[in-house]
Amino acid sequence: TMHGFIIIDENCKIIYVNDAVTKITGYSAEELIGKNCSILRPEPEDRIFQEKIRECFIFDKTYTLTISYQRKDGKIFYLYQTMFPVKLPGGVKRLVILGTDITKEIRLFEELEKSKLYDSLTNILNLQGFIYKITETLEKSLGPSLFIMIDIYNFSFINRNYGFTAGNQILKEIALRLVRNFRQCDIIGRLGGDEFGIFVPNLKDEKEGLVAITKKIHRVFEKPFVVEGEELTININMGIAIYPKDGKIFKSLYERASLALAAAKKEGAGETRIFNEEIEKEIENLLKIEKLVDKALKKNLFTFYYQPYFRTKDLKLVGFEALVRIIDEDGTIYTPAVFIDFLENSKYLVDFEDWALQKVEEQIKKWKIPISFNVSARSFRRDDFIKKLEEVCKKCKKLFVIEITERVFINNMERAVKILENLKEYSNIAIDDFGTGYSSFNYLKELPVSILKLDISFTKRLLEDGKDRLIVKSIVKLARSLKIKTLAEGIEKEQQMEILRKFKCDFLQGYLLAKPMPAHEIEKQFLLTKKS
Ligand code: C2E
Ligand code: MG
Ligand code: MG
Repeated sequence: TMHGFIIIDENCKIIYVNDAVTKITGYSAEELIGKNCSILRPEPEDRIFQEKIRECFIFDKTYTLTISYQRKDGKIFYLYQTMFPVKLPGGVKRLVILGTDITKEIRLFEELEKSKLYDSLTNILNLQGFIYKITETLEKSLGPSLFIMIDIYNFSFINRNYGFTAGNQILKEIALRLVRNFRQCDIIGRLGGDEFGIFVPNLKDEKEGLVAITKKIHRVFEKPFVVEGEELTININMGIAIYPKDGKIFKSLYERASLALAAAKKEGAGETRIFNEEIEKEIENLLKIEKLVDKALKKNLFTFYYQPYFRTKDLKLVGFEALVRIIDEDGTIYTPAVFIDFLENSKYLVDFEDWALQKVEEQIKKWKIPISFNVSARSFRRDDFIKKLEEVCKKCKKLFVIEITERVFINNMERAVKILENLKEYSNIAIDDFGTGYSSFNYLKELPVSILKLDISFTKRLLEDGKDRLIVKSIVKLARSLKIKTLAEGIEKEQQMEILRKFKCDFLQGYLLAKPMPAHEIEKQFLLTKKS
């Protein structure tokens, strides 16, 4: 740093400058001496400066302050300076200015402030900058505007398969394309991870603008991205909120666009959702369910109902299926239709599994009869769950029946075969809801399945449709030839039972025979009478 040293008289004329001053200002000493010190002052601070100088002289005051000056070449520089008055013999007053050039520090600080608003990877605004710029824009009077959030659908896949460097390259390219395709007044930001935001102010026509802009965004992503010489197609999801309809401040627009984005993601690759009341209700509902599940775990409100199933030929009890319920403190009973989807996709799943496995083990040990347990696709994918499942099966002496749907293994047959081959040593395996998915007999050859549960929709159509009857008949026959037992779900009518009996379907389950019921009810109706 350089220390400048200037002396001025009561008329603000410069009397002395040291070398540092000439270096800092770009003026030679000759050019400065004798001139009014305002030669160094850019507007608008000059007035304040002049006032301070006057105060120094009149009140004998000392000031320390930072002021900006202008060099000879017009560049601004900053001095951190102290000015103090000096009285010379004979009453002559002088003002001494001692200054340190802190331009570099100030610039650094400005850079730092700016860098807080920008994303260092893509050089577009970060979330903070996005908030700042939009808030600033919203203060002006605006016509209808779009608040768009974009999420890369398969970004984690790209990171996993091509590495972070490739992922970063794509993020940069996206930012570049967005900047190139949007106007100066549109606000573009990277809101974190693989999420981008665009604010398009002042649409001439809300509907037309919406169509044009979403088309434009799709075009931006249409062209494949090149990574390591390989062409990659990027799929996106978009969530859109509209100003002023959906919100007038950043927060409400952001929240609503996020909700729309979440809804779009749920619908799959390439989907776009515009915020509406429906989405709001959907989300509200989801939050309610989360509350319910959270409470159910904390207060032990989960419980199993058990639905018996029977041998078709003589209706002898064979076993039970455990069907989960939440019974709220006020007695309201919630069936899985309300919460199972949420539960299986939430952080609560592991705690629920632990409770469920332990409960069913306990019940099998008590009743000594087969109990079926529904395993979700999510659980089946996790090795830690499979391990727990195996432990429990081992303790249940083949009375544990694992119910899985086709969804569980269709994407990774190899793994499923390996797991089930191991599990069949300690348990029985049932395919649930058979007929609703791919329903290929091919996989039945490969998997160690002992029971095939025909989906309720077949049972329903048995009475209506000749074709369905034929399908059921052949499924039962084919299963038999593979040494797999069949169970028909959802028997509600005598006639259905009769038909299935004719087809030699092995087991029946349904409201006609017994509804799912709490353990004490099962004991009363089925187990105690059996003993007596
Ligand atoms: P699912 O495994 O196919 O279970 C059969 C469903 O059909 C049960 O519904 C049962 O109450 C119902 N049902 C039985 N007989 C009849 C009938 O005659 N008519 C009609 N209309 N329905 C009948 P629930 O208990 O509501 O369970 C629904 C689904 O939730 C189950 O379908 C299963 O996929 C899932 N689920 C239930 N408990 C659990 C669990 O502990 N864990 C997991 N992961 N999923 C579960
Ligand atoms: Mg089931
Ligand atoms: Mg079923």
